[in-house]
Amino acid sequence: MNRVTLAPYDSIISAAQALNRRRFLQSVAKVGAASAWMSFSPLRATISPERPEKVIVVTFGGGARDEETFAPEGQQYIPHLVGELIPQATFFTQVVNRGILGHYVATASLATGCYETFNNFAPISPANPTIFEYYRRDRRRRAFDAWVIAPSNGFNHIGESRHRLYGKGLGATVVLPKQLLEVANGNRGMDYEHLLRDNYESIVQLPSDSEHVMSARDLTELLQFSMADFLAHARTIRSPDELSLYIAQHVMQKIAPSFMWITFHDIDIAHSGAFSLYTDAIRRSDRLCAELWQSIQNHPEYKGKTALFILPDFGRDSDTDAGGNGFQHHRTGDALSRTTWMMALGPNIRENITIDRPVESIDLVPTLAAMLQCNARFAQGRPLHEVL
Ligand SMILES: [Zn+2]
Repeated sequence: MNRVTLAPYDSIISAAQALNRRRFLQSVAKVGAASAWMSFSPLRATISPERPEKVIVVTFGGGARDEETFAPEGQQYIPHLVGELIPQATFFTQVVNRGILGHYVATASLATGCYETFNNFAPISPANPTIFEYYRRDRRRRAFDAWVIAPSNGFNHIGESRHRLYGKGLGATVVLPKQLLEVANGNRGMDYEHLLRDNYESIVQLPSDSEHVMSARDLTELLQFSMADFLAHARTIRSPDELSLYIAQHVMQKIAPSFMWITFHDIDIAHSGAFSLYTDAIRRSDRLCAELWQSIQNHPEYKGKTALFILPDFGRDSDTDAGGNGFQHHRTGDALSRTTWMMALGPNIRENITIDRPVESIDLVPTLAAMLQCNARFAQGRPLHEVL
């Protein structure tokens, strides 16, 4: 359990500055400027007057540190983000997470705009309304217009809160690709064991809850894909995140929802202690983000209409904190594990801009709400005016 006391904002920021974020910022700005110059096209508008009609959020996940992402020594692991996406993005260099650094509770906090305080490993819905509920209620949207593609059984409650004014019947459609694979594979042996591991921290396998997630039969009918194709595809891939992208692309193709949330989680294999597996997973997440952006550009329902937000749920422990073991875990609650980044791309979002002011991870929901024209009335964060 990673339960920690909420840290005072000022102390996190002053500590974060000790991480030499200025060096981080300068490096990103330089790379971004160079790439923008290299790829300059007179046909590409810097700012489109159109407001995004659709929004996709990707949590770059399972805890990723600056050192293995946007810091100068980390950029080797994220060539697609640095070379392709950053030149088209507004990039926030200091996104601080003051909440509990467990993946489910932190992702739930990202989705509610409040620091949720429940036990990370409990099968429970967030206490505060999610952005999916705000969007669906205020805009009178059906469940199929808001989707969550989540990494493990532990996330099956993320689409819908237990808030008395929202909650039941107003949540997102949640797909757990691993659970789907499990059902599809039935009793045919352990072909997909490498894809089915549920999480990297707890041996507790939470029971799946069919009330909150889409059944395999409903999903295959809705997306018109065959389980045989799904299994054949699963045989060719190396990780659960690739399975999530595959489902996301099908959802875009067949349903084209206005709002989609994809939680990547492969990076959390860092808990095994193998640095190479951790950086392999970062490279993979980097590639999958670029593939997703490409899918957006290739789809007429999404091209030119979609805002994409990419952010880690939080960081990981620093190498210098005696209470931790470096990249392996996120237990100390130190500045490095709490400070991360976010990028936003899409129509009406400025390209190749870095924002150095500190923001919080709970600012995401009010920002999404402003974009999706709904009222996140219980969210505690503030809208990020730089992308609105
Ligand atoms: Zn973890």
